[in-house]
Amino acid sequence: MPDDPLPFIDLQSQRARIDPPLQAAIARVLEHGKFILGPEVAEFEHRLADFCGAKHAVSCANGTDALVLVLRDLGAGPGDAVLVPAFSFAATAEAVALVGATPVFVDVRRDTFNIDVESLAKAAAWIRDQSDLRAMAVIAVDLFGQPADYSGIATVAEGHNLLVIADAAQSFGARQLGRSVGTLSPITTTSFFPAKPLGCYGDGGAVLTDNAEQAKRLRSLRAHGKGNDKYDNVLVGTNSRLDTLQAAILIQKLAIFADEIAARERVAVRYAAALKDAVVTPLVAAGTTSVYAQYTIVLPERVSREELRKSMTAKGIPTQIYYPKPLHKQAAYAAFPAPVQLANSEILASRVLSLPMHPYLSESDQDRVIAAARDAVAP
Ligand SMILES: *Cc1c(COP(=O)(O)O)cnc(C)c1O
Repeated sequence: MPDDPLPFIDLQSQRARIDPPLQAAIARVLEHGKFILGPEVAEFEHRLADFCGAKHAVSCANGTDALVLVLRDLGAGPGDAVLVPAFSFAATAEAVALVGATPVFVDVRRDTFNIDVESLAKAAAWIRDQSDLRAMAVIAVDLFGQPADYSGIATVAEGHNLLVIADAAQSFGARQLGRSVGTLSPITTTSFFPAKPLGCYGDGGAVLTDNAEQAKRLRSLRAHGKGNDKYDNVLVGTNSRLDTLQAAILIQKLAIFADEIAARERVAVRYAAALKDAVVTPLVAAGTTSVYAQYTIVLPERVSREELRKSMTAKGIPTQIYYPKPLHKQAAYAAFPAPVQLANSEILASRVLSLPMHPYLSESDQDRVIAAARDAVAP
């Protein structure tokens, strides 16, 4: 049936591909019964670090906790400002607020959706010259799967003595100038939420670092601040471990991840070729790759996004809006400083649209998405 609705993300095709080894891996965990920090957790951490070339991977309960654990380890708290993009998922700002520090919003670029380096420099100067806060860190988000401009960000960070944290919840697997996400900044967090490019069957997250001491402290923080044993507490920690079952599942998914990244890229190339004259297709910066956590287009001003979505839905093509409201306009974050213009974040929030994207999208289904989108934007 040509008009059967397509899934936005197809996890069942992936499951069918790896079902026997996946079932066996799950059965092994049920058999050995080490559900918390069982052997699969350490094995997955090693494989994850190897995959990206980072020295250490510390898994945890989710991508939000990964950010919170890092901020806590860095000592972020009241009086500290952490610069974050206004156009991101809420968790980026939430983690900052959760540790008692102050998120300060920065604008993004219209073309890559990532932090605008000039806006970052302006916001950092505002913190230094016109606030009582101490600028401590910047969280660079790799939105929709493309790494941010880490060399530009590093230049501003050096000038203002900022630590650079990469929120790579959407970009694990991408590369920039020959290096992988996980090694593009001193510390990187990621998420294994099911819909992320590398997702598990529940919540999961990880921190990547080359610093052995930091990795050791993060392992302690995720397990109640434990020291030499469970009942020796050297830090005020929390409970934020990756389940053994999720680690076992992730080991199986990581084995096919490189191949899936290549398949995502093929979908993106076909989408771009067929849509670039009708809408703004995503720009991937020179020397950078994207894992296309989302394939996000920007609609022309004359097109009503709601009408377009309705017309595509009627043809069985689901779409999503990431994100309809920039963070500085969210009730929870409206009181935090927004010292610079956030015009790009606001325009993008009103005009972006994400199309179905996953490694198992057939060419004929891609063509359905393309035809529906083209029909809907035709003047
Ligand atoms: C998904 C996401 C997170 C949070 O990850 P969870 O595992 O859902 O807690 C953080 N930042 C960004 C940019 C994300 O997309």
